[in-house]
Amino acid sequence: MFLKKHFQSKTHTSEYDKILESSGYPYSMSFADIVLKNGPVLTMDNSRRKVTAVAVKDDLIIAVGGLPHVARLIGPMTEVIELDGRCLTPGLVNTHDHFLEHGISSAFIVDIRYPKAKSIKEIVESLEKRIKEVPKGQWVLAHVWDETLLEEKRFPTKYDLDAVSPDNPVYIKRVFQMGVANSKALEIAGITKDTPDPEYGIIEKDENSETTGLLRGRATRLVTDHIQWSMEEKLTAIKQACKDYHSVGFTTVIEPGLMADNIEAFRESHRRGDLTTRIQMQVGFLMSLKETEWAVEKYTIGGDDMLRITGLKMAVDGGVGPRTALFYEGYLDRPDVFGNQMVSQEELNKMVELGHRNGFQVAIHAIGDKAIDISMDAYEYAQTTSPRPDPRHQIVHCYFPTEKAKKQLVDLGVVVNTQTPFFYFLGESFLEALGSERCEDCMPVKTLTELGIPIGISHDATVTQPLPNIGIYASVARKTIKGNTLGTKESVSTETALSFYTDSASKHCFMEDKIGSIEVGKYADLSVWNFNPLEVEPEKLIDWKCQMTFVNGKKVFEV
Ligand SMILES: [Zn+2]
Repeated sequence: MFLKKHFQSKTHTSEYDKILESSGYPYSMSFADIVLKNGPVLTMDNSRRKVTAVAVKDDLIIAVGGLPHVARLIGPMTEVIELDGRCLTPGLVNTHDHFLEHGISSAFIVDIRYPKAKSIKEIVESLEKRIKEVPKGQWVLAHVWDETLLEEKRFPTKYDLDAVSPDNPVYIKRVFQMGVANSKALEIAGITKDTPDPEYGIIEKDENSETTGLLRGRATRLVTDHIQWSMEEKLTAIKQACKDYHSVGFTTVIEPGLMADNIEAFRESHRRGDLTTRIQMQVGFLMSLKETEWAVEKYTIGGDDMLRITGLKMAVDGGVGPRTALFYEGYLDRPDVFGNQMVSQEELNKMVELGHRNGFQVAIHAIGDKAIDISMDAYEYAQTTSPRPDPRHQIVHCYFPTEKAKKQLVDLGVVVNTQTPFFYFLGESFLEALGSERCEDCMPVKTLTELGIPIGISHDATVTQPLPNIGIYASVARKTIKGNTLGTKESVSTETALSFYTDSASKHCFMEDKIGSIEVGKYADLSVWNFNPLEVEPEKLIDWKCQMTFVNGKKVFEV
């Protein structure tokens, strides 16, 4: 019960701040609840101080320094944790992950990624196992198959799935907007042999014009639009996501693009005392002025330090792999393709200005150079039309900023979220789409850091798994999973990479005075790691693993 209460509304201005101000030596009157000692402790404060011990009382850090300084706070009831060479860092801050979607995927979706399932037979077996565990009628989903890797070397069909699922709708997803539905799912979606193909989509049929279950492009939406998660399922998913994120050291996540139902799920989770990750919610994503009007009418910024609405999410372009990121210059293999623009400059200006005027932090998805220019011009328009101190708008992704955009980022105080982990997981597709020369400038985190722009990195889960070891490694090495590099001129040091998950990232949340570094008076959000990342060769960073995580001074994960 105490734990539950602990994660509910908190005000930061604490007694400790007052004690700290009024006494020469703080907290001599009471002992610490927890002392972590025999560091190294990477505080990630402004001076990048390294110490060996930290003391925690209630939800706050009350002492940071050498052992003699901290040991005085060890009382009979204090839990003393020997770090024994393990490394302590601030709890990590993730500036853009689809946290709820990750939770749903982790809690409910059968993982059939190769080599988990090597054949259609194995896919069906894992589905059968899940179907036995869930009630009749409940959706059963699996992600993702790729027929080129499957033993049978063919697409699965509804007949494969029907054999084990007469009563449950089943949908198994392939990458790139394809999937197979069983007969029950087709029935729910109202798809028959007579259903015509939707725009930009194909309902696959056999020689007798009977549906095979395979859906391509927009036809997948005919089924996926019917897949809905109940409030209880979402609450389970949020709990699961908290567990997963704590297990890799995260304590705060910016959750982008939530519509009303999902915002309510987070609020309910927090009311129940189950939310152990600090979540900052961005409403969206908003595709038009009309939708933006809906958002500013329905929501205002606010909440507490565990759950808060901060932003509005918008998008200008798509992604590099599908050739939809918006560039001035065409793609390497498709010089006539420049990407997609999802909203006009004029409309975006109005959308951004409306959010800006209503006090929101606006976050725009922009990857290609042209998309980033459009976004920055919208931010400039908003700030010129309705000047406001420190709006700290965010560019999400920001892979190829122009010189003009870099200057605007500085002048307008915009923060940059980017995905260096993609170098590792998706880097090969970047090289293929743009060539190695252009990729050298992709995610110029070194240049942006030198310009003083706060960088936050993230994994854009569920695009990639939230693995900060990979995020740090990829920021330093800029290598793909196959070992090819995307140039090293934008490589940063391990310490700078760590700042993208700590002090620098905390600025995206307007919480730099409360989280992001280990300092007296800040929340005791802490992560313990198997070794000091600053003392190893870059290749060894891949082995960096979280061993313990604290939020508000409470242990939320331990190996
Ligand atoms: Zn995203």
